[in-house]
Amino acid sequence: MTKIAFVGLGNMGGPMAGNLVRAGHVVRGFDLSDTVMTSAAEVGVRPAGSLAEAVSDAECVITMLPKGQHVVAVWTDLTTLVAEGTLLIDCSTVDVESARQAHKLASVMNCTSLDAPVSGGTSGAAAGTLTFMVGGPEVAFAVGRPILEAMGKTIVHCGGPGAGQAAKICNNMILGISMIGVCEAFGLAEKLGLSHQALYDVASRSSGQCWSLTAYCPVPGPVPTSPANNDYRPGFTGALMLKDLLLSQEAARQTGAATPLGQQAAGLYAEFEKAGHGDEDFSAIIQMLRERERERAGG
Ligand code: NAD
Repeated sequence: MTKIAFVGLGNMGGPMAGNLVRAGHVVRGFDLSDTVMTSAAEVGVRPAGSLAEAVSDAECVITMLPKGQHVVAVWTDLTTLVAEGTLLIDCSTVDVESARQAHKLASVMNCTSLDAPVSGGTSGAAAGTLTFMVGGPEVAFAVGRPILEAMGKTIVHCGGPGAGQAAKICNNMILGISMIGVCEAFGLAEKLGLSHQALYDVASRSSGQCWSLTAYCPVPGPVPTSPANNDYRPGFTGALMLKDLLLSQEAARQTGAATPLGQQAAGLYAEFEKAGHGDEDFSAIIQMLRERERERAGG
């Protein structure tokens, strides 16, 4: 049993904190939103009135916040609040620079730290089946691993500080590009008179096979659990996909990596969001592509 402070109890953090409680940890939670604090209390998280109260006797602090700026701000506040030796884990998806900055803040506090972003979405958070991509020293990973295991199924130590975020950004760049590729293939198949099921049956067992096709198929039918069968309700929203693609492009700019398809994918998801679809599942981008076809045909 570990005394854990969980900061950021939103769509992901709430169910993750609930799984820590189920695993027998004592979890004190803090969020700026009263609504999510109430939901977290229903799954056994002890609500704290402030960040200071949440972390007062914590052996481990976990943050699950929207962006890098939020993580750096909260970890800066933690410098005067946590005891030396506390393990700090950030599970948010943020830029590599902010992750490294957070690790530096932890070392100023004489604390150990991990960046541990996740893949698996809200359903994985609820089921405790997330994949954690972890960056930070071996010694911190050894302490953090059993805690992460209460929330996830696959825990991969990717390297030193920032390596977890680097893995997350690269993985999601593949995901964004591959989803658009799969959507384009279904659009072309429709024009060629090929059924969705026929394309699926071939590509899912051929070299076109990928997660965007076999787990998240963007047309209804072949994969009954994919959001396409549920009116493209998320799942993983277009807005979050855009966020991750922009992080990949910022990292590519900083490092000089050539990512022309990542750049195109970011542009398409920016259009998708601008057209008001940011709250839909990211696989709904197939509808924007069809819309383009219609415009071209009409113009
Ligand atoms: P969310 O907006 O539902 O939750 C974030 C929570 O942080 C909110 O409840 C907000 O009130 C709280 N918060 C913000 N600033 C705070 C502060 N200073 N102190 C305390 N609480 C604060 O977002 P989410 O969907 O839970 O995502 C969290 C992170 O996980 C993001 O970085 C996101 O990119 C990543 N992520 C999300 C998904 C997903 O499917 N939702 C999947 C993988 C990764």
